[in-house]
Amino acid sequence: MSSIDYEALAAEARQMFESAADEHELESARVAWIGRKGRITLLLRQIPDLPADERPIAGGTLNALKGELAACLEERLRNLSADESETGADFDITHPGRTPFIGRLHPLTTTLNEIIDVFREMGFDVAEGPEVESEYYNFEALNIPEHHPARGMWDTFWTESPPGMVLRTHTSPVQIRTMEHQEPPVRIIVPGRCYRSDTPDSTHSPVFHQVEGLYVDEGVSMAMLRGALDTFAHRLFGEEVPTRFRPSYFPFTEPSAELDIGCFQCSGKGCRLCKGTGWIEILGAGMVNPDLYGFVGYDPEKVTGYAFGMGVERIAMLRYGIDDIRLFYENDLRFLEQF
Ligand SMILES: [Zn+2]
Repeated sequence: MSSIDYEALAAEARQMFESAADEHELESARVAWIGRKGRITLLLRQIPDLPADERPIAGGTLNALKGELAACLEERLRNLSADESETGADFDITHPGRTPFIGRLHPLTTTLNEIIDVFREMGFDVAEGPEVESEYYNFEALNIPEHHPARGMWDTFWTESPPGMVLRTHTSPVQIRTMEHQEPPVRIIVPGRCYRSDTPDSTHSPVFHQVEGLYVDEGVSMAMLRGALDTFAHRLFGEEVPTRFRPSYFPFTEPSAELDIGCFQCSGKGCRLCKGTGWIEILGAGMVNPDLYGFVGYDPEKVTGYAFGMGVERIAMLRYGIDDIRLFYENDLRFLEQF
């Protein structure tokens, strides 16, 4: 044992610890030198076999070296982890990133935005109003007095406190509110949430969305209404789609009509979607009933106007081929992620 060159041994060990490039190499050095079967450990174990006068020197030198190496190991470990966090050594720039969760617009919002865009290009402004309405704005000012049979067309939610307010059954009250504060010309589009106490099924929901339009000025005609709605139908359902006006009834328009588009599923031959008629109803419209002008102080001898209204859900269902209105409100990502 006296032949052992402690200086050389220590230099070799230090070199291995200090040159370790990472934690893995450092661990190899630990095992090789001061592990259970490491070189220093084995030398320490052989000390009892040495001549008595060499034991203290060997023990002192080897134990000192072992302590030095253990300290060196700890310091190197500290430096390595500091290096990594400083230089980002554990950050692999070639590793594919985690896909961020990106939300998207609800199909109703997308459809509503498209409808608004079409009419905005035609010069309509967007107007909004309260969802909790007075009976006056929701019914009376729209030519639907109490006991008028037309009130039966709407199953209405009434408030208890204060009593007699309604969750608006259509966005039409905003037409009255706008005309009260603005002289003609009025050209507005009114998007918004509406309520009717319908039992939910595949085509009815107690909450739904409407877009209404109103254009009042001198010389506004039914032909202009037809032109505007044709443009709208062609923009949303394609340039080729045929359209037609069909006579109808609404208390606030006279005459009234429904706009149909040719069934895009059967091209007019008749199918389940169009109930065999070849036509699909998409909205109601008409010339503003002159009686309404009395409520807002317009001169019915001077101005005329047209109005129209559509359900956003219905338009979205037709465009995307959705067969159940309830899907819009269930927040099921499997449904929403398709749009
Ligand atoms: Zn059809």
